[in-house]
Amino acid sequence: MVSPRFCTQERLRPQRQGVGPGQPGRWQVSSYDCIVIGAGGIGSAAFDHVASRGASVLGIERFGIAHDQGSSHGHTRVIRQAYFEHPDYVPLLVDAYRLWDDLADHSGQPLISRCGLLLAGVPDGPAVAGTRHAARLHGLDLQDVSRSRLDNDFPGFTIPDDFDAVWEAAGGFLLVEDAVAAHIARAIEHGAVLHTEETVVRWSRVGKSYEVVTDRGHYQAGSLIIAPGSFVPGLLPELDVAWEIVRKPLFWFPARSGLYDHSRGSGVFFLETSGGEFYGFPSLDGETVKVAEHTAGLEITDPLTVDRDVIDRDLPPLIEYLQAHMPGLSTKPTDHTVCLYTRTPDGNFIVDKHPGHDGVAIGCGFSGHGFKFTPIIGSILTDLALEGTTSHSIDFLSALRTGLMRPR
Ligand SMILES: Cc1cc2nc3c(=O)[nH]c(=O)nc-3n(C[C@H](O)[C@H](O)[C@H](O)COP(=O)(O)OP(=O)(O)OC[C@H]3O[C@@H](n4cnc5c(N)ncnc54)[C@H](O)[C@@H]3O)c2cc1C
Repeated sequence: MVSPRFCTQERLRPQRQGVGPGQPGRWQVSSYDCIVIGAGGIGSAAFDHVASRGASVLGIERFGIAHDQGSSHGHTRVIRQAYFEHPDYVPLLVDAYRLWDDLADHSGQPLISRCGLLLAGVPDGPAVAGTRHAARLHGLDLQDVSRSRLDNDFPGFTIPDDFDAVWEAAGGFLLVEDAVAAHIARAIEHGAVLHTEETVVRWSRVGKSYEVVTDRGHYQAGSLIIAPGSFVPGLLPELDVAWEIVRKPLFWFPARSGLYDHSRGSGVFFLETSGGEFYGFPSLDGETVKVAEHTAGLEITDPLTVDRDVIDRDLPPLIEYLQAHMPGLSTKPTDHTVCLYTRTPDGNFIVDKHPGHDGVAIGCGFSGHGFKFTPIIGSILTDLALEGTTSHSIDFLSALRTGLMRPR
């Protein structure tokens, strides 16, 4: 992991004199083509793509690299292509897979595993019906899983008789912290500058460029990329989106046998049940399986004061799910972590130019399913910030679409 606060020397451009707003003296203001605010999942990818295109870039992150205070930690993230949330995500995912392979090759790390995905639920529910629809529309490989195949190939799962099950061979998982660190490392190889443990206090347009003020200094850039995760209400209050920021615990449960082992060919899983949507990963250590609930979650107001201990409401839905559907797991977890979802009202991301600032690209509201997209969203944000436009179809992710704002 890359750890120093200043990851490279500020060597991209000679510093020039500027005047800090409201300050009596003269300031040294470093100037860049682009400043990326937030270096979590999305920001780290944008940081990499800006640098890879040869532009000078400063990344500013309030915590460390691949930290555990936001939305991009907990070891693994599901990746899949037959996307029930909205079929327009599929072309982005096809590009994301290519970019993940490229990053994995570059880093020399197994960042992505295509171990397959078992998805099950009632046939007309959003998950199964939506997955089949997306696969049909985009010609993706999705297999129906028969009862006998469920019994033979998935003995660790109890799938109710009224459920359908499908298998997506391209599904799998990403190593989340390693992926963030790999994006940052490649950006730094391309000469990017990263400041960690530094918090952006405000940003504004000054003449033809943008000024960013942090708790440590002032910086200027021709464009900004803002990817603040759950801190978005404070950094982009003018969007006035009806955000729902929720606390999401993840648990590791001991396996009673090797039924769920990655080394024996087990894949990721997603079950849409009457009690909620649950998902998890094959056992990577041969001992525990990570399981979590995608639905529900306690709404919070301040990401800095989230309760990171296990609270009363966390375990009962998971225990009920495990007892009904994964009897091969003990219901006493050995470990947990707490992560944050930043939900938009329709569950779709916001990836767009800032409505009031042409030179500012924003990526936020990833609604608990954004990590698999990070390299392609990083590339699109780079298009928007450096070129003002992108060739990707992202109208459905517009900051100005209806239904996003708070009711008045
Ligand atoms: C429990 C859980 C499970 C998930 N499972 C999946 C999954 O299986 N598959 C999937 O695709 N997605 C999944 N997601 C969603 C995915 O992880 C997120 O959508 C994605 O990580 C969001 O990245 P982000 O960059 O928006 O947020 P973050 O990674 O939190 O990054 C935002 C960064 O901005 C920094 N920042 C904020 N404000 C400032 C400031 N003022 N100054 C400087 N820095 C600042 C923060 O410190 C942070 O590092 C899951 C999320 C959670 C919480």
